[in-house]
Amino acid sequence: MSILQTKRNLQFDWEKYWPDLSPLYLSFLELERDPYYSFLPEEELEDYLKKAIHIGEQTAKRYTDMNHLDFFNDVLKEDIRIRLLDQHPEQSTIRAQYHKKKQTIFIYKNSMREIGQFISKEIGDIPQIDIIALHAYHEWFHHLEETTIGRTDLKFRPVVIKQRGPFLVKRSLLRLREIAAHSFTQTALGLSWSPLLLDQFRYLLTKGYSNAQIRECFQDTKRTYYAIINKK
Ligand SMILES: [Zn+2]
Repeated sequence: MSILQTKRNLQFDWEKYWPDLSPLYLSFLELERDPYYSFLPEEELEDYLKKAIHIGEQTAKRYTDMNHLDFFNDVLKEDIRIRLLDQHPEQSTIRAQYHKKKQTIFIYKNSMREIGQFISKEIGDIPQIDIIALHAYHEWFHHLEETTIGRTDLKFRPVVIKQRGPFLVKRSLLRLREIAAHSFTQTALGLSWSPLLLDQFRYLLTKGYSNAQIRECFQDTKRTYYAIINKK
């Protein structure tokens, strides 16, 4: 069987190797980074997170039985190109990008390398195609947002950031799109772990955290989350 006819290489058990955190809490960390997060009423937090995760899961249903070959054929059928570039020209932390006008998914090799090295340290080498798929599925979700399902953030009530006379100034939370894209990727690829973990690990490892400290940090996240939710 060709490596294109499977997608099992990424379906390992994350918590056997590293501290784990479930998609709900990881999505909370993601939404917290939205510039307008502080304007979201606390009693709406959980609904926002669960709905964004659900949108990703629902959209992924069509893809769960596909192998890489089926998926990449689907991408080609819609005339979307995938290009691998060394790194994003301005922001080296960007892993990949969907460019609507150019009909192209750009995947940055520095991100592929980083993920490959991280996983290979504990688990062993992962075929490049799996790492490309991990990035491509995420960007494919953004493509679907632009072409068929609509932007995730626009499916939510925008937050009110200020009142100008009789007018309310409202903004949508763009990070909801990221939460849905990660949830889509996780479900489509059949992963037991959220790809958001890779971003969290990158962030905490560059701060010099050990596995034990990361575990502690994840416990803190859960405590913070419940403190907010229980204020209701
Ligand atoms: Zn994204």
